[in-house]
Amino acid sequence: MNANATQTVMVVEDEEAFIDALVVGLQREGFGVEVARDGAEALSNFDRVNPDIVLLDVMLPKVSGTDVCREIRKKSQVPIIMVSAKGTEIDTVVGLEVGADDYIVTPYRIRELVARVRAALRRSGVVESGVVDSGTSINVGEVAIDPEQHVVTVRGQVTKLPLKEFELLYVLIANAGRVMTRDTLIDRVWGSDYYGDTKTLDVHIKRLRSKVESDPGNPTAILTIRGLGYKFERPV
Ligand code: CA
Repeated sequence: MNANATQTVMVVEDEEAFIDALVVGLQREGFGVEVARDGAEALSNFDRVNPDIVLLDVMLPKVSGTDVCREIRKKSQVPIIMVSAKGTEIDTVVGLEVGADDYIVTPYRIRELVARVRAALRRSGVVESGVVDSGTSINVGEVAIDPEQHVVTVRGQVTKLPLKEFELLYVLIANAGRVMTRDTLIDRVWGSDYYGDTKTLDVHIKRLRSKVESDPGNPTAILTIRGLGYKFERPV
């Protein structure tokens, strides 16, 4: 990734008033902006636009934001920030479950949005350029994770993970056997400038368990340490 290249934000939004404000606000911060006015347009333009990040409204005509997110995740790990109206918490959780990296609730200030966009881009850049030090895969129990190749293998099967889940799993496995507090995990994965809901962590843990555990309802690898956080268990 060329740090000097203009980074393109794909804005998927159907409210004209929001679109104008977003285009002006993001361009002023130096981003390129491509707008899609409904879910179908977002999906048909995605490959051509090849965005660095997607800002995705949940409530969209034709194809819903969560379905757009699900479709994009089938082929891309691009950072996705979901936008939902206040009071639609269910959509938010579903959004995270289908692979969004973050969400922001309307009404928001453009400055807050830009901070979130920058944080998400920074995090994706770290993994893409392989700055995570070791090039060798870490193996713990039935899971192997290779931060350089961005590959996770569970019981011999290569498993695709969205960026945030990958980073969370990496932090847990790199510290296997050690309890990681909620604050530490949120800090390491979402950054100390993270403004969002702390439920985001639990949603990501749930998603990781569904991919890593043989019985996600009775986890034996990713353990909840009540009142503290989580621990990736070392096999006995
Ligand atoms: Ca909308």
